[in-house]
Amino acid sequence: MVYFGINVEKEVQNSIVQKFSEYLLENKLMATKCKSCGAQYLPPRSECRCMSTDMEWVEMPLEGTLKAWTIIHFAPTGMEDKAPYIVGIVELPNGNTISVHITGLIKPPEVGMKVKLKPGSFDEEKAIIKAIPA
Ligand SMILES: [Zn+2]
Repeated sequence: MVYFGINVEKEVQNSIVQKFSEYLLENKLMATKCKSCGAQYLPPRSECRCMSTDMEWVEMPLEGTLKAWTIIHFAPTGMEDKAPYIVGIVELPNGNTISVHITGLIKPPEVGMKVKLKPGSFDEEKAIIKAIPA
């Protein structure tokens, strides 16, 4: 939806991403929840699939199960000096999933392993979600 050259939905979604990052820097993993139908979104969204925009923030548990992982050899801009590194998909006890950086390993990760999530800062400015073996 565009009003006077401003992409309103994009602006709203950007503010959601900004708030999500701020929560990560406070060591919180937050999702948005639709007040109309209860659907949860992680990463958060400003609009529900039921078309409602009446959303609230809900805190997610900081634990889960590793569902998939891979090694990043060719990193995106800004991450080149970190490669190779390991990323994964973690499923939370409530069924939500989130992509994470996996650290603290003493052996290769295994699908199905339990992990603890550590939202926080990376290079002291970027927000990141790390997962370490539980
Ligand atoms: Zn909804």
